[in-house]
Order: sequence, then C-alpha cells, then structure tokens
Amino acid sequence: MTNRFGPRILLLGAGFCAAFSANAGFQVVALGVNGGVEEGNLTSYLIRSDSQPRYLALDAGSVLPGIEQALAKGSFPEVNAENSAPLTPQGAVFRNLISGYFISHAHLDHIAGLIIASPQDSRKPIYGSAETISALRQYVFNWKLWPNFTDAGSGQRLGTYRLNAPRPGQRFSLSSSGLDGVIYPLSHGGVTSSMLLISRENESFAFFGDTGADKQEKSRDLNAIWRVLADEIRQRRLKGIIIETSFVDETPDAQLFGHLTPALLLTELTQLEQYAGGAGSLKGLKVVISHIKPSLLAGVDPRAEIRRQLEQGDRLGVNFIFMQQGDSQHF
Ligand SMILES: [Zn+2]
Ligand SMILES: [Zn+2]
Repeated sequence: MTNRFGPRILLLGAGFCAAFSANAGFQVVALGVNGGVEEGNLTSYLIRSDSQPRYLALDAGSVLPGIEQALAKGSFPEVNAENSAPLTPQGAVFRNLISGYFISHAHLDHIAGLIIASPQDSRKPIYGSAETISALRQYVFNWKLWPNFTDAGSGQRLGTYRLNAPRPGQRFSLSSSGLDGVIYPLSHGGVTSSMLLISRENESFAFFGDTGADKQEKSRDLNAIWRVLADEIRQRRLKGIIIETSFVDETPDAQLFGHLTPALLLTELTQLEQYAGGAGSLKGLKVVISHIKPSLLAGVDPRAEIRRQLEQGDRLGVNFIFMQQGDSQHF
C-alpha cells in the first residue's frame, strides 16, 4: 500500500484500512502472470484506486494461489489473521477485498481460478463483452461443466455471480470498486477478446486481454484503441497498461494463434506513439508485460528472452515492467 501521496485514513466499514489521498493513482497486485501450461500462475491482476478499499479482478486464471503468494509477499498489509476472522486471510481477500471480476475473454487460462473457487465466493458481479458472458453462461456455468453459480442461463441459478455485458465503447460503473470502465474489442485468433479502460476521476489504466497484432489479425481493433489511449496520454490521464507478449520474436506467424511477440508489440506501440504526439510521447509510460507462455524445454527461459527482446528494440522509452505472482505495484 502506498502512503507517498498523503495521509492515511482508517476505513472501518469492511474491517480493513485503506490509503486515501487527493492525488490518487492505482494499486495493482499480480495474482497470476503466465499465459498457460501450469495451472497455479495464470493471468489475473487486481486493481484498485488509492481512494478505495476494494479491488476489481482483471481476469481470473489463478485466484486463490495468487492471493496466497501476495499475502506471503506482504501485498495486502491491511489483512491479518485477527481482522479476517472467521475467515482465513486468504479467504478474507477473496471474499471481501475482490468486489467483482472483469473477464477479457472466456479462454480457460483467464477463468479457471474463478470457476474452481466459485463455491466459496461471495456475491459479486462479473463484467465482460456479450461474447464472453454468453460463453460463460453456455459452456461453463451450465450444470454440465460446472454448477450454475450465475443469475442467468440454464437450470437452477445459484446466483453468486451477476452477469453483466456492458455495450462496447460505453462507460459503466464497476460496482463497489468505485471504478468506471469502458470495454473495447480485441481480435484474438478468431475469438473476440477485450480491453478494459479503467478510470477514476482524472486517472486511467488500460488492461488488455489476449490480442494479436492488427496486421496478423487483419483487424483494426488495436488501431482504434491506440487512438483512444493517445487521447488519454495527451490529457496526462493514463497511469499504465497491462498487455500481453506471449511468444518470443522467432515464433512463426502460423504459430502465434492471436498473440503478440516483442517485435509486434513494439510496432503496435509505435503506432500509439504517433497518435499520442510523435517521438518521445510514450517516454516513461509503464507497460506491464503479461501472459508469457512458459516453456517445458530445458534451458529455455521465455521470460528472460522476451524481456531482452523488448528492451533491445525499445526506441520509445517505454518502461517495461515484469511483475511476478504476488507482486504489488503502484501506478
Ligand atoms: Zn490466454
Ligand atoms: Zn486467449
């Protein structure tokens, strides 16, 4: 938790305290950072405004294992065994500090943690595009793959989750996180994925679900998003971005399956730089790299290689950030 920006005030309502400040930003906790293969560390981030106690989950690939790691790393300093009772600290973060979920698309590495933990979750909303929400209703919470913990769809509705599909491009309120959001479509190898532009007062943050590059996807989705984010940058609102880089540069196009490499991300960010005012306009922009696909080959380290390729090719002055599971960072 940050206290660099002002006085700390105790918030007693939920049994937790929160840092309040006039000059707010966002706190991000990484619950899972990888794009597959091993089930304990899949894409999920928590974000909250400095002025609010509760987080919004951005995807939910690994939830409870990520909370456990984050507690061990001290990323939830306001939670302890005494104020969590009768829950465990892990249970208190899960049930009380996560106010809802934004799901970028319904691929398993973005929803597995939510599904498996759902029997013990508290009532909360799930936000996503119409495609994502419909996939959750039809294929997941249908009493065949899993009981229907939602308030819609087939069979008995257990009602833990309120499904919400706000219209793309339209601002909506993200429940008790105190954040607003706007969903933008992303092209992801034949699947509609999405970006969520989160905002609170004069600050914003962009979370990208899986996406390919416009050229490979024969799409204009990223181009449209760069125009929106360029405006945020010009107005000095954008505090940071989480975006994927799944594969190293050597990956052939035919094996990208709707994902980015360092070179493709840098090309896309160069487009953003142009829209945002030209050379130097992205200097210092915080870009969290997510969804790296781990390798099971001995001696191969895609994380180190992707980092090297991004830093070597970076003529934009962007600040690439590699969060590990359980890390907390201020934006
Ligand atoms: Zn994924
Ligand atoms: Zn995906």
